[in-house]
Amino acid sequence: MAGQVIDGKAFAADVRARVAAHVARLAEEQGLVPGLAVVLVGEDPASQVYVRNKGVQTLEAGMRSFEHKLPADTPEADLLALIARLNADAQVHGILVQLPLPAHMNADLVINAIDPAKDVDGFHISNVGLLGTGQKAMVPCTPLGCLMMLRAYHGSLSGLNAVVVGRSNIVGKPMAQLLLGDSCTVTIAHSRTKDLAALCRSADILVAAVGRPEMITGDMVKPGATVIDVGINRVERDGKTRLVGDVDFASAAAVAGAITPVPGGVGPMTIACLLANTLTACCRAHGLPEPEGLTA
Ligand code: NDP
Repeated sequence: MAGQVIDGKAFAADVRARVAAHVARLAEEQGLVPGLAVVLVGEDPASQVYVRNKGVQTLEAGMRSFEHKLPADTPEADLLALIARLNADAQVHGILVQLPLPAHMNADLVINAIDPAKDVDGFHISNVGLLGTGQKAMVPCTPLGCLMMLRAYHGSLSGLNAVVVGRSNIVGKPMAQLLLGDSCTVTIAHSRTKDLAALCRSADILVAAVGRPEMITGDMVKPGATVIDVGINRVERDGKTRLVGDVDFASAAAVAGAITPVPGGVGPMTIACLLANTLTACCRAHGLPEPEGLTA
């Protein structure tokens, strides 16, 4: 194997430690405690695990955690009323509504009901617009985590060719905006892209956010490129359920200069960046300096 494995767990531990140190200073110097409210509607098992992990890590960082679990048949109006209460609650600096929502709810309506200043997922249309126009926004956690790892690994990203495979609103598009913000030359690929392999081979930075197990193979990677694998796919192999990314790790790692593994790459950075965003939201709400190196 040639490529360096980018250790997302270690990066995430470092981000969490920096958040916790800043939170401790805020408490000591300002008497302030950042608070994150997480809202879960229904009993989706994967969502329950995510919400539990978020709550545990929020408390470990020294912040307040508020969990709101609502039954799957909750009327949309009740969820909107809860969001209005959280918007008005001075102890709550970040609000996250766990997706997916039950089918009877309009996710766009719900997300856009969150105060943009508290929208720590960065999905509110105002934050999407701010990011798209290069202004100070709340940035979606997964792409923010990818950006932090890329900056740490490369230093400057200026002038590098970046290809983002996937154009979703939660990963692909914001990832492309962030790379553009750091002066990469960015191409977004998707299911209609012609000759994806050749396009990928032009990338100094290749980000895969597709949701297709191991579809990016070594022959699609430019020698020495940095490969960021956002994918989380469950596959049955040798009678066991395994987690794999959108990148075929073995063949890609043989060609890449650096690569994130799955698990242990992008995944751990997502919750770490949620904590960072909550801290940033608290600092902005109180007109205090933002934590360095934890925002876009
Ligand atoms: P979406 O399903 O919303 O988007 C997938 C994108 O991939 C679409 O833009 C689609 O194109 C594109 N695509 C599908 N097939 C192909 C193909 N054959 N060639 C090129 N492009 C293709 O997924 P998400 O963005 O929500 O998630 C992507 C992956 O990232 C998933 O595995 C998900 O689990 C993971 N993820 C991981 C997170 C983490 O914390 N690590 C957080 C969020 C997601 P088109 O638009 O044309 O259909």
